[in-house]
Amino acid sequence: MHDFRFKKGKLYCEDVSIEALAEKVGTPLYVYSHNTLRRHFLAYQKAFAKVPHLIAFAMKANANLAILRLFAKEGGGIDIVSEGELHRALAAGVDPKKMVFAGVGKTRKEMQAALRAGILMFNVESAQELTALDEVAKSLGTKAPVALRVNPDINPKTHPYISTGLKKSKFGIEITRAVEQYQLASRLSNIEVVGIHSHIGSQLTQIKPFVDALKRIGKLIEELRGRGMEIKYWDIGGGLGITYDAEKPPLPKELAAAILPLLKESGCTIILEPGRSLVGNAGALITRVIYTKEGETKNFVIVDAGMNDLIRPSLYEAYHEIVPVVKKKRRNATVDVVGPICESGDFLAQERTLPQVAPEELLAVLSAGAYSFSMASNYNARPRSAEVLVHGDKYATIRERESMDDLIRGERIPEFLDFGQS
Ligand SMILES: *Cc1c(COP(=O)(O)O)cnc(C)c1O
Repeated sequence: MHDFRFKKGKLYCEDVSIEALAEKVGTPLYVYSHNTLRRHFLAYQKAFAKVPHLIAFAMKANANLAILRLFAKEGGGIDIVSEGELHRALAAGVDPKKMVFAGVGKTRKEMQAALRAGILMFNVESAQELTALDEVAKSLGTKAPVALRVNPDINPKTHPYISTGLKKSKFGIEITRAVEQYQLASRLSNIEVVGIHSHIGSQLTQIKPFVDALKRIGKLIEELRGRGMEIKYWDIGGGLGITYDAEKPPLPKELAAAILPLLKESGCTIILEPGRSLVGNAGALITRVIYTKEGETKNFVIVDAGMNDLIRPSLYEAYHEIVPVVKKKRRNATVDVVGPICESGDFLAQERTLPQVAPEELLAVLSAGAYSFSMASNYNARPRSAEVLVHGDKYATIRERESMDDLIRGERIPEFLDFGQS
């Protein structure tokens, strides 16, 4: 559910007209609903209220400071995957004791920064990372709180690029070697084992893979405890899908109903790392039609948002619903909605049936709150778009549109390239 709705034929986000917003802030433009974001967060809080828990928003889905703050205000934590994300989370005022740090390639510099900040735990993904973290912690005269990311070898039945819990995946430690790695961890003097972590993939639309994975992890927790290790935190990852098209993913309460008995029995504090399911349907990308072009075999709608603004269709063959911001009576046409970028892969939709649109008209690309702006780039020297957060009948620009000077900031022309020098 989300708060993008038509009123008298015009699209609104909560009580703000998208047409008026686009007029004031320009396009392409990302718009998010405060109400949707908060409601999604509270749905998790409520679903897991019966166990001690922490909802650590996976920031890589949407890293805007205002959105991080919104969740932090409701008691949320953050799942970070880089020093940059740590910096963002701190800048948003998130309590470091509510931060968990995942990722297969944490550098020593990143470990140092996170240890200094005093994060809740590192989700460690390999033996080498474990020894590096031990050394870094020693050099700072501290102990690093650690969960091992265990790969339960479960097929989450999602797109291969967002499938992370199979044996062949680069993520985590194979479950068959987990005990051995935990033993290594407990021998290291500057590592403190505090938990266990798994995350099997993204855009999951079934409960069964979760349950299967968690059953395996639950057994492992028992075994580890039997060997004298303390597992206080059970981080079950993120991954719940959203509706882009016709998917019917489970709701947080449905997931909770299936796994709560297992989680309760463990006595652990449960950490969840939802990303997409918190923000995905809370955002839309607003874009203006520049031209339309009718070919012999294809019709194109050329818009001012490209794959640099929203790469998911190109990267994952992802589907995003696209609707005209103003409804009118007109015929449908089958079109490719494409951006201005010089790549054939630059499309937002292919072979899509849409009402026939005209230049200057606004389109809304829905479900663009997750992995959308956060994956935006400056390819083709395109400034990244503005982001706006709507709250009732108010809105705030939570990120300014980049300027032309932003595009060249940090670049230098060396002296030996001065005109007149050879
Ligand atoms: C990406 C990621 C998440 C969030 O996944 P969603 O599908 O967006 O919920 C959570 N945990 C880890 C470790 C991740 O890499």
